[in-house]
Amino acid sequence: MTNPLFDSLFGDHVGKDTPFLYLPNGETLTHDRFLRLAAQYANAFTAAGLEPGARVAAQVEKSHHALAVYAACVQAGLVFLPLNTGYTVEELSYFIEDSGASMVICKSDRREALNPIASEHGAMLETLEEDGSGSLSEKAAEASETFETVDRTEDDLAALLYTSGTTGRSKGAMLSQGNLLSNAVTLAEHWRFSSDDVLLHALPIFHTHGLFVATNITLVAGGAMIFLPKFDLDTVIKRLPEATAMMGVPTFYTRLLDDPRFDKDLVSHMRLFVSGSAPLLAETHTTFEKRTGHRILERYGMTETNMNTSNPYDGDRRAGTVGFPLPGVELKITDPETGEEVAQGEVGQIEVRGPNVFQGYWQMPDKTAAELRENGFFITGDLGVIDDRGYVQIVGRNKDLIISGGYNIYPKEIELVLDEQPGVLESAVIGVPHADFGETVVGVIVPEAGAEPDLDAIGEATSKALARFKHPRKLIVREELPRNSMGKVQKNLLRDEFKDLFV
Ligand code: ATP
Ligand code: MG
Repeated sequence: MTNPLFDSLFGDHVGKDTPFLYLPNGETLTHDRFLRLAAQYANAFTAAGLEPGARVAAQVEKSHHALAVYAACVQAGLVFLPLNTGYTVEELSYFIEDSGASMVICKSDRREALNPIASEHGAMLETLEEDGSGSLSEKAAEASETFETVDRTEDDLAALLYTSGTTGRSKGAMLSQGNLLSNAVTLAEHWRFSSDDVLLHALPIFHTHGLFVATNITLVAGGAMIFLPKFDLDTVIKRLPEATAMMGVPTFYTRLLDDPRFDKDLVSHMRLFVSGSAPLLAETHTTFEKRTGHRILERYGMTETNMNTSNPYDGDRRAGTVGFPLPGVELKITDPETGEEVAQGEVGQIEVRGPNVFQGYWQMPDKTAAELRENGFFITGDLGVIDDRGYVQIVGRNKDLIISGGYNIYPKEIELVLDEQPGVLESAVIGVPHADFGETVVGVIVPEAGAEPDLDAIGEATSKALARFKHPRKLIVREELPRNSMGKVQKNLLRDEFKDLFV
């Protein structure tokens, strides 16, 4: 009997009294205690009649119970489908219908609204609260603490994970056991995770970053996590002294740097800080190093592939780059028109191939065919360039490319110039419709605290630095950029807001 993902992540820890989760209330959950809880959930699923391969959709708050539901799905051969806690009932109805979920797990206050939707689509509905109460946990609490692991192969689906929906409607990425396992093993090795590690975990667990990267790696290595419900600055600063490693989105790091309590002494014992899910500004990287002596390790991945590239553990972690392809992952930069590889140093679309690459989009054969080549390369939708030392730089998303008067304009190039200007904290450059040029460039800038950037001077500086067709036609000042829960800038919202400026 084998279940490769369960055996490697969880099975090895059965019966061990080693710490796995340090909970917010100060309690410690051992591996053994966690696995007995997971087995109870697995028994509850089987008792409800769920068969291997069925999808279990969960929109629940982050807690050790929610994590046990994930483990239970793996053990029972079910396909885990976590959902962003921010989604509205209307949004949920799309995911429930699209996925054909057999069971929906939600918070109690959603039960009434979701009931008709679940029954319309033939899904069972159960509740689970952060504190472990709810209809599902009541059933689990009465179930046995052992469960006979369901047989699976590396090709069987382990998760249906929807993309963040930054560029359009979320797509369900089918991830096999082998996809998740291969990446977890590679990353644990690459980033030197061991059973001595204690990862400060403040990310959500409905996204690949917090669920697969952070959790799976810790599990493979046999380490522990300080499992926080969310990123709360005071709590993170308080708990950092107990951690050896932390993973975060760039906003975690900018918020820490904004606090004077975050200094060298606080983190001198730390082994590793990892950043991803959105670009880390080179400035954040250097400020972080000056303040703490640590160089943040930036990596690059996505829902469909888990992680593809990483800066080196030993060796130079280059600010503004996402490092090299991971062992076992092939990466190439191609011409979007021809699909041919471009010369080193030229911008093109990033394609990746490896055991980490997903099985296709759920019930979207056309989209799968368009983005997943027959030879196994996945067209990521990101644009990038490989520098003279082989480091990959992300230039932006294909969909954010601006085409003005027939010229291709990469927003990143302009953002880098804007970010350097006095008083500018960060920026987002977008293309908006223009009667003559098709599209034209608009720059949205966020001032540093208390600063009032001189827009004329910035206009002059960009004129000097960039060719005329790249000059922003308008600069707009905003207190902050619209971001989603993973810290990604939502350029579609900005494009929508400013779409009538030049037409
Ligand atoms: P959708 O595919 O629905 O539009 P999404 O691509 O934002 O949403 P995710 O899979 O959560 O959904 O995010 C993956 C994307 O995040 C990558 O394609 C890339 O654009 C971005 N990303 C991840 N890590 C980095 C990084 N280190 N630097 C820059 N961008 C990154
Ligand atoms: Mg995407």
